[in-house]
Amino acid sequence: MQLDVVTLFPQWFDWFSEQRHVANALAAGNELRALDLREHTPLSGGQVDDTPFGGGAGMVLRVDVMDHALRGFYGIDPVDLRRERRVIALTPGGRILDEALVNELAAEPAVTLLCGRYEGFDERIVQHFCSDAVSIGRYVLAGGELAAMVVCDAVLRKLPGALGHADSAAEESFSAALGGDPEYPHYTRPADYRGWNVPDVLLSGHHEEIRRWRRARSRERGATGGA
Ligand code: SAM
Repeated sequence: MQLDVVTLFPQWFDWFSEQRHVANALAAGNELRALDLREHTPLSGGQVDDTPFGGGAGMVLRVDVMDHALRGFYGIDPVDLRRERRVIALTPGGRILDEALVNELAAEPAVTLLCGRYEGFDERIVQHFCSDAVSIGRYVLAGGELAAMVVCDAVLRKLPGALGHADSAAEESFSAALGGDPEYPHYTRPADYRGWNVPDVLLSGHHEEIRRWRRARSRERGATGGA
């Protein structure tokens, strides 16, 4: 899979790319590129934004700058690009990132994430260059870079080779194996710490009972919306 992030801060992704599961996914043949929005700007002094029509605070990322950037990176009109690959505007009001969307993206051969800054994108970027708009939650970050990392982290760990143990991703919160419920609680040594005991069933060695106990805890968490 090729994951591209268009950003004003490509260097943020140097650290991210070095993290174990990301590095594993890249070593397994996937690609993560941080593309500098300023690289192809047609404006002088590396300008990328401008004041909003109609007035108001802040600066808005210009549609012509994004047009030049995407043409520069991909060599085609961005209006056509979104038919070739998912081009996603990261924006607080977009479709909420959840397990279904992560699985959807992990099945794509190529995805481009656009990071906003300041007041966000000129709406024509979203309308004409993007296939989707995605939010990582109903709150506002200063920029799209952390949102892009959240998307990349969630997607890359789904890919073969990213995690050390293939089963870790098969049975985890919201997976089909758990019927979409959150994962059951885990415990490790010591079995008794300050009088806080690990449930007996987990020490019993009865695999079927353990499986049933875990499934029940998982369902409980799904029903209550708990941790
Ligand atoms: N004026 C925008 C609004 O009120 O919706 C907020 C812009 S925000 C300060 C700047 C950029 O950060 C956005 O364009 C987007 O790329 C990114 N961003 C902020 N919060 C986000 C979120 N919850 N999910 C995804 N991206 C987010």
